Amino acid sequence: MRPLVAGNWKMNGLGVDLGELVVLGSTLSANPPACDVLVCPPTTLLSRAASAAAGVFAIGGQDCHAKASGAFTGDVSAEMLADAGASYVILGHSERRQYHSESNADVAAKALAARRAGLTAIICLGETAAQREAGTHTEICSTQLDESVPMDATDFNTAIAYEPIWAIGTGKTPTNAEIVAMHLHIRGCLVRRLGEGARKMRILYGGSVKPDNAGDILNLPEVGGALVGGASLKAHDFLGIIGGIKRA
Ligand code: PEP
Repeated sequence: MRPLVAGNWKMNGLGVDLGELVVLGSTLSANPPACDVLVCPPTTLLSRAASAAAGVFAIGGQDCHAKASGAFTGDVSAEMLADAGASYVILGHSERRQYHSESNADVAAKALAARRAGLTAIICLGETAAQREAGTHTEICSTQLDESVPMDATDFNTAIAYEPIWAIGTGKTPTNAEIVAMHLHIRGCLVRRLGEGARKMRILYGGSVKPDNAGDILNLPEVGGALVGGASLKAHDFLGIIGGIKRA
């Protein structure tokens, strides 16, 4: 399974920042990476980002509506993301779950919409600091996975991102052993739920991945790549993370 390093720009980025993607594309063209690379800019930049990527790396959305079209002011459908040049969409990010009250059922409906539009869904899950302290983190993640990932998800149309909420944007990360333990747990849940084919599904780690810890984290067993927030905004940092993947 080829790893995936995905950047989530969140609500950051104006037209002037597309230069970062031009640098990213030209550097990756000259030095082909040992992984798939994806950038998920804000929706306003999607089609310009797709032009800047010029097929060298993939472009994705950060969320989509479950319906294809309709009276949903301010929302964007999976079909619209695909039309703008996206091939992936991040779903169920903890910021969507927290600030937009998205439930696991909402995420599952959006995952079906992503499939309908031919997008690969990156379904996010992860525990809060309190849940980790209480020792309920594995149970929390299995419930999120069971309820957010559709039964017919495959490694082609779905990736999972394990993102402990307490590690997002905080500079804190779990230990390597904690990351491996959770990824193994998620793998077990996926196989139990979806069958043996799920052994090939990518499980990304997300939460304060930076150039200086990427080499350690990205080469751990069961880690199929990274979902990167802050450090994906600058091509130099993002390239430093991509370069952390060891060649097979
Ligand atoms: C994220 O928002 O998905 C994320 C992992 O952010 P950061 O890399 O900034 O912690």
